[in-house]
Amino acid sequence: MKIRVLGCHGGELPGYRTTCFLVDQKLCVDGGSITSVLQLDDVLKIDDIFLTHSHFDHIKDVPLMTDLLVGKRKTPVVVHGPAETMETMDKDVFNNRVWPDFRVIPTKEKPVLAFETIPIHKPVTCQGLKIRAIPVQHPVYSVGYILESRVGAVAFSGDTGPTDELWRAINATPNLRAVFLELSFPTSMQWLADVSGHLTPKTVISELQKLDRRGAKIYLYHLKPAVIDEVKAEVRSLKMDFLHVCELEEVYTFI
Ligand SMILES: [Zn+2]
Ligand SMILES: [Zn+2]
Repeated sequence: MKIRVLGCHGGELPGYRTTCFLVDQKLCVDGGSITSVLQLDDVLKIDDIFLTHSHFDHIKDVPLMTDLLVGKRKTPVVVHGPAETMETMDKDVFNNRVWPDFRVIPTKEKPVLAFETIPIHKPVTCQGLKIRAIPVQHPVYSVGYILESRVGAVAFSGDTGPTDELWRAINATPNLRAVFLELSFPTSMQWLADVSGHLTPKTVISELQKLDRRGAKIYLYHLKPAVIDEVKAEVRSLKMDFLHVCELEEVYTFI
């Protein structure tokens, strides 16, 4: 499994891009940075996008991507997500007001976009991976994902405050290789993290106490650009070598 960081921040500025992890060139976890990073040839290789939730920083490039696909793809790109997220994509994004409904473009029979609701806790198979959606804690309905291949399991938390269900599911998953865990604010802004369903270094540490890590590395992402230096300094001061703050364009290979 090869994971490329297309976007790993909780906001956008030059040099900072919103959340999107490209898995084996064909599948994205979240769609915050697709067209803002990839050339058309690489955009056309993406067959599936798994959304953790409907917040704008996680869906931003999905509508922009679909616009590029007409006449270029034989099969639709499938956007997967929990029912609540897909309802928002249907009613609030591809609603012919904010953006055209590319599920019937260029034709109803051969559209460039399709939606697929992912069941919760129940594995689906996609691109040779077993994928499970596990609910997490955030102001809108949100899930984390556990991706399993024959080389092992990689988990993505999505946006979340302190949670239990995801850790239970990860702990019960064999051959854990990596956890991508959100970290948004410095501990000095704990109150904001708490009300907005996010983590600080302080709550990252308390969350990790719920994890049976088994040597897996923890990749921290979703740092807010306006406070990123403070958050990074705080992570460094923890001196925990299994913590890694994601940077744009890094590629992690699990073999
Ligand atoms: Zn976010
Ligand atoms: Zn969010």
